[in-house]
Amino acid sequence: MQTINQLDALRHHISALRVAKGRVALVPTMGALHDGHMALVAAARRHADAVVVSIFVNPAQFGAHEDLDAYPRTMERDAELLRAAGVDILWAPPAHIVYPPGFATQLHVDGPSNGYCGAARPGHFDGVALVVAKLFNQVQPDVAFFGEKDFQQLAVIRQMARDLDFALEILGVPIVRDADGLALSSRNAYLTANERAAALALPIALGQAAAKIRAGDDVARTLAAAKADILAAGFARVDYVALADAVTLEELHMFDGRPARLLAAAKIGKTRLIDNLAI
Ligand code: AMP
Repeated sequence: MQTINQLDALRHHISALRVAKGRVALVPTMGALHDGHMALVAAARRHADAVVVSIFVNPAQFGAHEDLDAYPRTMERDAELLRAAGVDILWAPPAHIVYPPGFATQLHVDGPSNGYCGAARPGHFDGVALVVAKLFNQVQPDVAFFGEKDFQQLAVIRQMARDLDFALEILGVPIVRDADGLALSSRNAYLTANERAAALALPIALGQAAAKIRAGDDVARTLAAAKADILAAGFARVDYVALADAVTLEELHMFDGRPARLLAAAKIGKTRLIDNLAI
C-alpha cells in the first residue's frame, strides 16, 4: 500500500494502478477506522480491481461548535488496518491541499440535504458534497462506496453525482453494528460506559417502531413513542425520528408500501448519534 499526500503523486499512482489492475474503487473516510469502514473496503475489493481509501477529517462539514478538533485521529493504526485489508492506495491529503489558500467554491445540493441532519447541522451536507466532489475529481474512481449508516449523506451524494455528471457508480453498504445492535461509529469512542449502555435505546426504539409501522400502526404516534423511549433511556435531546421515502428522503406521514427508511439522530451526553432502519 502506498500512502500518498500530494495530488500529483496521487494522479501518477492511480494512472499506473488503472493500467496494472483495472477498475478503481474509492472509499472516502474520516479515519478512526472500525469494522463499518472495513466492510466498505471489503465491498470495494469485491467490486473493483484496485482500492483507494481516503482519510481526511473535512473541516467544511463541521459546524462552528462541533467536534472538529476533538475528532479521533488514529492514522498509524488506520494505515495498518488498510494495509492488512489489501488496500492499494491510502490518500491522506493535508488540509491545505484540499482547501488551498484562496479556495472560494461552495456546493449546495438541495432536495435530499433538506431536513433531518441537514436541518440539525446547517451547512453540513454542503461540506460533505464539496469534499466528495473533490475526492471524485482527484481519484476519478470507477465506483465509490458509502455506508448506509449515513443514509441521508448517501442520498445527497447520489443526487450530487447525478446532477454533476460524475461518471461513476455509487454503491451503499449496509450498516455494521456491534454485537448488541449499536451502529459502529467513530464517535462511539466519546461515550462513557454508562452512555454506551444507554445508547442501545436508539437502535431498540427504531427496531420497535419499524415493526409497528410495518404492522400498520399510526406513523405519528409510533414516532412519538420512539422519541419518548429514547429520551427516557437518558438521551439529552432527540433531533428527529422520522419516516422517509428511501430514495428522495421526502418525509412520509403514512406507510404506503414504497421503500421507506426510519431515520433518527439523538444526543447522549456530548455525543450525537445517528441510526436508521429499512421499513
Ligand atoms: P466516516 O469516517 O464516519 O466519515 O465514515 C466513512 C464511511 O464509512 C461513510 O460512508 C460511512 O457511512 C461509513 N460508515 C461509518 N460507519 C459505518 C457503519 N457502522 N456501517 C457501515 N458503514 C459505515
